[in-house]
Amino acid sequence: MKKYLTTPIYYVNDVPHIGHAYCTLATDTLARYWREKLGAENVFFLTGTDENSQKTVEAARKSGKPIPEYLEEIAGNWRTTWDEIGISYDDFIRTTEKRHHETVHKILQKIYDNGDIYRGKYEGHYCDGCETFLKESDLNEKGECPDHLKIPRKISEENYFFKLSKYGDKLLEVYAKNPRLLEPEKRRNEVLSFIKSGLDDISISRESAEMGIPLPWDENHKIYVWFDALINYYTAIDTDEKRDFWNSACHILGKDITRFHNVIWPAMLMSAGLPLPQEEFAHGFFTIDGVKMSKSLGNMVSPLEISREFGNDALRLGLLSSFEFGNDGDFSHENLAKLYDKKMASGLGNLFNRVIVLVNKFLDGQKPAGISTDEIKAEYENFAGFMEEKKLKSAIDYFFQIVDSANELLNEKEPWKLVKTDMDEAKKVFAKLLQKLETLKLMAKILLPETYPRMVDMLGDTEKVGEAQILFARIEKKSNP
Ligand SMILES: [Zn+2]
Repeated sequence: MKKYLTTPIYYVNDVPHIGHAYCTLATDTLARYWREKLGAENVFFLTGTDENSQKTVEAARKSGKPIPEYLEEIAGNWRTTWDEIGISYDDFIRTTEKRHHETVHKILQKIYDNGDIYRGKYEGHYCDGCETFLKESDLNEKGECPDHLKIPRKISEENYFFKLSKYGDKLLEVYAKNPRLLEPEKRRNEVLSFIKSGLDDISISRESAEMGIPLPWDENHKIYVWFDALINYYTAIDTDEKRDFWNSACHILGKDITRFHNVIWPAMLMSAGLPLPQEEFAHGFFTIDGVKMSKSLGNMVSPLEISREFGNDALRLGLLSSFEFGNDGDFSHENLAKLYDKKMASGLGNLFNRVIVLVNKFLDGQKPAGISTDEIKAEYENFAGFMEEKKLKSAIDYFFQIVDSANELLNEKEPWKLVKTDMDEAKKVFAKLLQKLETLKLMAKILLPETYPRMVDMLGDTEKVGEAQILFARIEKKSNP
């Protein structure tokens, strides 16, 4: 079994913000889970940048740099942001790469040869902000794009069209067979009713575009940016060694891009004669301290700010535990500070520190008999159940339940007193506590990858524990930003 996980590729002219980090950290957490289960060689995790856009040309112009130099710099910025917050991607794709152009040509040619592309006249509204054609019914009462509050350009040009209309019934069939093609259910139902309302053919090329990949059979036309972008998922595994990853593809995406990922993309794949992804999952959106994030409000938070203050594991747990993956929610600075102070430092950090100090002090570091690997396995299986369902918040909550139960056991049994009256009983308590720590360590490899190595050190080898360490340093004045 293999697992191929992808994030959307991000617009290169955006700055990585916490919304991008949320999706990327969630996918990273899933990748770490599957690597444990299947072996690292059977998991492939892709992220990257979407670069063939008119917005790129404008942003490069503004920066005063030649386009390739500008792209190199900005794509590098995305990459280093992901490196800094500990994203374990296996490949970073840029849609201006040669390998992508080759795969796009190959797939487009197949769709063309299959008779699903024709030339026609397009007349309509094009919003440069959305990089998409809008219908009359999409516009607000002033005739503007509701997202960008700008009147879209009227475009009348000869374009190539993809026969999306041909695939409506086929799409309904494949969704009936494989509901995992879009989860959660709410998102799937939206897409199904969109398909049932009737699909129009879509324009897939622009004659006037400066940026983009030319059509293989007509050099004067550039491929519409969304059409080429989706193909990135196939490009990255389009080699003899990696192509069999395709059958296990799992796309993680935001709920705003399901029409592209769950209507157009599967239709393209069917037309090209390629298998569909195994699963797709659309996550929700969140407010920050109750306020919607937007460029105009200037409240876009950088993941680096949070990571530099609290560390990568707090950033990860804070984002993924605020609300269940797939739902909408709120991310609050106050809750993050609480999570760090109460659950991470006082809960988890103290637990590890106290148990290891006590075992070193009273048992000379020797691990007592009675640590049950069966019980460790059973608790890990519960955790794995949440991960398989992508219930990331539930998985994290379960982790902290074990922390709480271990702290309760420690406080209730007071093994530092028991050692003086009943050494056998004290050893049993220490065995149970070390067993809980071992369980937490296994889960931390997935949930807290930055803290994990210190937990490994503290738990030592099969015979003896290691030295006690501080897992999470106290941070002053966290709750009053
Ligand atoms: Zn728009």
